[in-house]
Amino acid sequence: MFRLAFVAMGLVMLTGCSTKDNGAATTSEPAAIAPILDRADARDQHSYARPLEARVYHVALDLDVDFAAERVAGSATLDIEAAEDAREIVLDSRNLTIRSITAPDGSALDYSVGEGSEELGQPITVELAGHERIVIDYVSAPDSDALQFLSPAQTAGKVHPYLFSQGQSILNRSWIPTQDSPGIRQTWEARIRVPNPLTAVMSAPSAGDPVPDGPDHRIFSFAMDKSVPPYLIAIAVGDIVFRPLGLRTGVWTEPAMLDAAAAELADTERMITASEQLFGPYRWGRYDMIVLPPSFPFGGMENPTLTFLTPTFIAGDKSLTALIAHELAHSWSGNLATNATWADFWLNEGMTVYAEQRIVEAVYGEEAYDQAVSLSLDATDGALAELERRDQVLAVDLAGRHPDDGFTDIPYDKGAAFLRTLEAEVGRERFDAFLRRWFDDHAFEPVTSSMFFEAVAEQLFDGDEAKIASFGLREWIYEPGLPENVARGNPEAFAEVDAAVVEFDGGGDPAALGWADWNTAERLRFLGKIDTDLSDERLAALDRAFGLSATGNNEILFLWLKLAIANRYDPAVDRLTRFLTSQGRRKFVRPLFVALAADEEWGLTIARRIYPRARPLYHPVTFQDLDQMGLDAARTGSESTQS
Ligand SMILES: [Zn+2]
Repeated sequence: MFRLAFVAMGLVMLTGCSTKDNGAATTSEPAAIAPILDRADARDQHSYARPLEARVYHVALDLDVDFAAERVAGSATLDIEAAEDAREIVLDSRNLTIRSITAPDGSALDYSVGEGSEELGQPITVELAGHERIVIDYVSAPDSDALQFLSPAQTAGKVHPYLFSQGQSILNRSWIPTQDSPGIRQTWEARIRVPNPLTAVMSAPSAGDPVPDGPDHRIFSFAMDKSVPPYLIAIAVGDIVFRPLGLRTGVWTEPAMLDAAAAELADTERMITASEQLFGPYRWGRYDMIVLPPSFPFGGMENPTLTFLTPTFIAGDKSLTALIAHELAHSWSGNLATNATWADFWLNEGMTVYAEQRIVEAVYGEEAYDQAVSLSLDATDGALAELERRDQVLAVDLAGRHPDDGFTDIPYDKGAAFLRTLEAEVGRERFDAFLRRWFDDHAFEPVTSSMFFEAVAEQLFDGDEAKIASFGLREWIYEPGLPENVARGNPEAFAEVDAAVVEFDGGGDPAALGWADWNTAERLRFLGKIDTDLSDERLAALDRAFGLSATGNNEILFLWLKLAIANRYDPAVDRLTRFLTSQGRRKFVRPLFVALAADEEWGLTIARRIYPRARPLYHPVTFQDLDQMGLDAARTGSESTQS
């Protein structure tokens, strides 16, 4: 997933669905219960599943998408591998209505739905009675955490409704009753019934052309024959069209956005080639992308074979396409070798940021790489200054907390700094060989911090305790702060911009600075480094010189609006209002509302005016904690579990 908090990226260059006789479940061999899940740090406290007793290894969905009721209904057929003495299997769910659970022959199985918790949802315990396949007939709740139903007004085309899902971290249990734990990999298939003329796409290859089902519906089929962590099962349904961008890549989006999306993504095939040179073959077949409506809460989500993207990365000049390098890199780090639990999220994201920077270097050159590294270190320093010590640790302790509490810049940027420091220690050639072996050794497997520690100790430090200690391997993974040996990168990466910052802070005229010649990374560096205490006159001069209010680059606009709020700059409020009511990317929306709400005399009134209008556009991931801030009289004090 791309960036929850701020980290800049910088380049000049982001049915009547029958349930019992559908025959949807094909056979797929059970993967052996992975011995990895036996490790102490592979025990997932965010799932009720007990995979060492019984685990799901294949899911077959047969679902009807009901836009009027804003829910999905149908069946999930689960193939199960159980230990010899196992009598039951425990699944995860959240607010699902279970209509029946049966064996394939239709006989009812005993089951119970536990009370569970607000945080984790409800466990479903099913008596197996010797069966290795069970069929769950169910309906999702209208406010499912994972599914966002959009009205036509919330789309670009304004004519048809839209649905998309977001599974990470523990949201998919709100529409799929399975073992929702990243360490429990499952192959899957789906039949999805949608109203005409909408198209369904999923994070799996299509399994044939859509089939008409009555006069008004079609059924789309998909099959993922590689085992994935269940948070990577994803769906989008809407009035969408496809355009190929290369031999194995293309883009889906609404017709009105197709030209802009395709132009912005023109470098994708080059990025795939660069990635393969670094990390080995791309193992997922096609790499397609879908550019979603503006309410998508994240920058991107690395759903296999179909990356989900925010439209806010479209700047018109490919200047924010490091986002694509990031999501593509997840095809190795995250999707191939996956954190066994959310406490090891850094193994997904730190490795991906490191890989993203290497792809950027290969495609856009050394200067772009130096600048990306420098911005990532800034983010690390910023996070360390802000976060409690326990949250500064890569292998973070999430006991009693929601996984999203660990989704800070630490796993992303301190994680990348760790890998870059390892690279500096052993040399790039050796480190690259290590990474390739890591992905080969753990392809389609869960991984943990202790596994990474052991691999580094053995393969890069030859098991030499003195070398391991002098590098600080344990400190890097298990302790707060930033070890002193961190590879700082090129200090000259932003030499010109940093000189301009000094000039501006000393009262210099912004029109005399080199803004027009700077790339996006340089512009972000400048806006992130200048003194934030500015008069209205200085802000007006900045806006005049750089055209900040009119920029089409949302990362730059975001920094400008933060500056404006910090200085109660009234002329920017209209632009701020438009930004907050036209997209729902949490990275942008949340900090701006937090900054407004913190200013009780000026900002809070503005926030209370904007929020009730903006909220209908937002995904639950974006609005849940904003609801707690008293911005909407109608919602004050409502319950929330998301951080
Ligand atoms: Zn990511």
